[in-house]
Parts: sequence; C-alpha cells; structure tokens
Amino acid sequence: MEARSIDVAVLGGGAAGLMAAIRARRHGASVDLLEKNRRCGAKILISGGGRCNLTTTREGPALLASFRGAQAAFLKPSFAALSPQRLRAFFEEHGVETVEEELEKVFPAADRASVVLDALLAAAEAAGVVIHTQCAVQAIEQAEGGFRIRHAGGEVLARRVILATGGKSWPKAGTTGDGYAFARTLGHTVTRLFPALAPLHTPDLVWRALSGLTLTTCAVSVEEADGTLLRFERPVLFTHEGLSGPGPMDVSGTVEARGGATVSIDLLPAIAEQDLDALLAERARKGVPHVDGLLPDGIPQRLRPVLLQRAGIASGTRAGELPREARRALSSILKRLEFKIPKSLGFDQAEVTRGGVALDEVNPRSLESLIVPGFHVVGEVLDIDGPIGGFNFQAAFATGWAAGDAVARALHSA
Ligand SMILES: Cc1cc2nc3c(=O)[nH]c(=O)nc-3n(C[C@H](O)[C@H](O)[C@H](O)COP(=O)(O)OP(=O)(O)OC[C@H]3O[C@@H](n4cnc5c(N)ncnc54)[C@H](O)[C@@H]3O)c2cc1C
Repeated sequence: MEARSIDVAVLGGGAAGLMAAIRARRHGASVDLLEKNRRCGAKILISGGGRCNLTTTREGPALLASFRGAQAAFLKPSFAALSPQRLRAFFEEHGVETVEEELEKVFPAADRASVVLDALLAAAEAAGVVIHTQCAVQAIEQAEGGFRIRHAGGEVLARRVILATGGKSWPKAGTTGDGYAFARTLGHTVTRLFPALAPLHTPDLVWRALSGLTLTTCAVSVEEADGTLLRFERPVLFTHEGLSGPGPMDVSGTVEARGGATVSIDLLPAIAEQDLDALLAERARKGVPHVDGLLPDGIPQRLRPVLLQRAGIASGTRAGELPREARRALSSILKRLEFKIPKSLGFDQAEVTRGGVALDEVNPRSLESLIVPGFHVVGEVLDIDGPIGGFNFQAAFATGWAAGDAVARALHSA
C-alpha cells in the first residue's frame, strides 16, 4: 500500500499538537495528527486537579520573567503571537468561558478540564484536521520532499513535521519521552532531563510527622547552581513523604538539577528579620510568660515545638530569660527554616520535564529546527519548563500556535 502523503504531520495530540494542527489546517495545509493514546489530551484532562489551569493572568515582561534563563527570550515571539489574553479569547470564541483565581491562575468557568479538550477537538474537526489515535510514531526520517514517518499502522509522508510528543513526566499518561529519541536521530541535542514540579522527598522524620499541615503565607526558596536565588511566595503542604504544594513543587526542578539542595521556607515573608527580632524582644518585654507565646500568631501550633527545638530552646523557657542569641536564632529560623532535600518524588509524580530539545537549535519565531529544515518542535519536548500556574500550558499552546502559522506560511511560499 502506498504511504499517505500530506503537507503537515503533527506528532502528538496534547495542548501543543492540537493547537499547531488547528492553526496549520486553518491556513489551508492538509494536516494529519498522530496520537499514541486512544484519545488526545490525556494531560489536559488530569491537569489542575481535573479543572485545567490553562493559562495565567500574567502578561508581558512579568510573564516572560516567570521562565528561567534562556527560556524567556525563546518564548517571547510565541507569546507575542499568542498571549494569555489572546489564548483566553480563543477559548471564549470556542465556547469556553474562563475565570481568574488565586496565584494568577486561569481556569474554565465550567470547572472541568474536559471543556478545554472538547473545544480543541471540535476546532480541529471543524478545520478538517485528520486525527489518528492509537497511532504511536516509531521513527522519522528525512525523505525526498520532506519526511517519512513510520507509525503503528504504517507510514505517512509529510512535507513538514511538527514534533509535539511532550516530555517524560507522568508516564502513565502516555508521555514516555519518545520525542527525544526522534529529535536526536535527526541530529538535535537533547539537554539533560530532570523531573520538575514534583513533590519533594525528605528523609527527616520530624517533618514527615507534620503530615497534613499547610502553610498558606510563606515563601520557598532554593539556590540555582550559578548562585541565583529562586523564590516563590506560595503555599507548602507537609506530607508523609516530605513537602508538597506549589512552593516546594516549583523548586523541585532545581533540587533535581543540583543533585539535592537546601530548600528554605520563610514563614513570615511580610516582615524583615531585624523587625521580627525587635518584635520578639518587644513581646518578651511585654510579659509573655513562656517562650512558646513569643511566636507570632500565624505560626501553626503543630510547628511551634519543632521551631523551638531547631533554635535550641527548651519549650517552657521563661520568655524574659531568653538570651539574645537564642532569640536571634529563633528569628533566623522563622525566616529561614531549612530542609536538606536529596531528591523529588521523580518523573512518576512530576508535572513537567526540565530539559529537552536544545533551544539554540530551534528558531524561536517559527519553531523550525536550525538543523533540519521543515522539522518544527513545540511544547514540553523543548527545553522549557515553567512554574505552577498555567505557564506550561501557555508555553505549549503558544509554541504550537506559532509553529502552525509558520508551517502554513512556509508551504504557501514554497
Ligand atoms: C498531573 C498534571 C497536572 C498538570 N496540571 C497543569 C496545569 O494545571 N496547568 C499547566 O499549565 N500545566 C499543567 N501540567 C503540565 C502540562 O500538562 C504540560 O505542560 C502540557 O501537557 C505539555 O503539553 P504538550 O502538548 O507539549 O505535551 P503533552 O500534553 O504531554 O502531549 C504530548 C502528546 O504526545 C503523545 N505522544 C507521545 N509519544 C508519542 C508517539 N511516539 N507517537 C504519537 N503520539 C505520542 C502523548 O500521548 C500526548 O498525547 C500538568 C501535568 C500533570 C502531569
């Protein structure tokens, strides 16, 4: 049987692939989307606790500053083509009203991730994208006039390819990192891969005993290998394995990349350490009987004995008898409660992959490879990972959008 011949093959039917396919087809290209799973969009459905935090309210420089290192400059043209506001407008045009929530997150008003996926599938169908599910791509090679793609059901010939196979996090959703091998075969560099946005593991049983405790107003920080401090004012949840919640998950990629790191929690981000020390001294002077009563009201009861113990202060010590050094040690611990974290809970529980197809080998405007003309790379398979808060979908949708437009432009001008 002769291989089917098309303009564009999109490999992977997640956020990036679906958006790329819709855009390319709307510009008139014939598009086949090949998806390994029985359905497209497995990660859309499980995202945001089944509610899909599809983007953020951050725009412009603040949006770009949310991405580390070279990622910001790379994403600039994609976000110029599809900003968070424009993405929300796209979904509203397709019947999905969106709402803003805390931490600048945007969700569908219907509170169900399925409305996001249904809108994308309806848009793809209306445009005329041909979707092949249960169609795992096995190999890609350059061929006369484009690419030959071998998949579970045979072969397809495409003038251009958009690689949108995602990362290797949460492999039970079908993302087992296949795309990295395809990119390598075509000559691309894949940077080291680490789990990111994963809960943190701590061997220290003192912390695990606090399982269930949540800190809502705190800041979590870690140092990057180059000394840059990453700091997130976001909640923390103590679990029986360690630390979870947005703050710890946001620093997990760096913990992994450094092979373990010290993570620090600032329990009172609104007050400077010096002012805190003065406040504790004032409380002691005002006649709080015991040192336990010195701690500011927002500090949870369950955490108090651990903090005192870490500061080397016996519970029940009379506040007025607390030496200045001990009081300073307590202020310091309240501002920098340190955890030696050896690792995260790994790819199985990571929401994204840090690392991927090297950004300096891809044109940021067209997402086209600088090594293999006609080969475009979008979404999480790229060396892109953002923090929690809709940034990863925003990056996937925007790179998909820009690549879809670019392939159509290239085909028209050919
Ligand atoms: C539990 C969880 C919750 C999350 N919540 C959020 C959230 O609320 N907000 C947010 O911004 N981000 C969230 N993320 C991250 C987000 O899901 C990803 O950043 C996003 O899905 C990346 O989109 P993508 O299209 O690049 O890749 P994916 O969505 O991973 O899509 C890749 C697709 O390619 C297919 N594929 C893989 N290999 C092959 C192959 N060989 N042949 C054919 N098809 C293949 C896969 O089956 C998959 O459908 C969450 C992730 C997880 C795991």
